[in-house]
Amino acid sequence: MVGLRIGLGFDIHRLEPASEPDAGIALAGLRLPCPWRVIAHSDGDVVLHALCDALLGAAAAGDLGEHFPDSDPAHRGRPSAWFLERVRALPALAPWRIANVDINVIAEVPRLAPHKPALRARLAELLALPLAAVSLKARTHEGLDAIGERRAIAAQAAVLLMAREAA
Ligand code: MG
Repeated sequence: MVGLRIGLGFDIHRLEPASEPDAGIALAGLRLPCPWRVIAHSDGDVVLHALCDALLGAAAAGDLGEHFPDSDPAHRGRPSAWFLERVRALPALAPWRIANVDINVIAEVPRLAPHKPALRARLAELLALPLAAVSLKARTHEGLDAIGERRAIAAQAAVLLMAREAA
């Protein structure tokens, strides 16, 4: 068995303006208060969804939609940390430990720069990894297309897994 596996994940959700006082979006397992909401079946956390798909991809274990169909009413509004926990507990992931993760968040709004340290720390906590093994980068879409027009938010995730026996 090759001792390393790489995985790639992507997710995008629609955004819309929100005016209620408790408005905000779920991102990397945190809730960011902002005048926007994500339109999604679950909590719409694009970072955790991309990360789940990267983990599944590295283990060649399918994708998030196969494991947790968005047609299942049980998943409505579900915190995405629940999906991440379930993915990490899959037998296909058992032979592997995470070496590092690298995340890109692509969003015109909300402005993420002030939140990056907290988002990164929350990811490290959810994955039980040292901060040095977790990267979270944020960029806008330069006003282009749906993300740039504030109609969507997206994330990309790359994960490297190492065989536990090689650890
Ligand atoms: Mg999603």
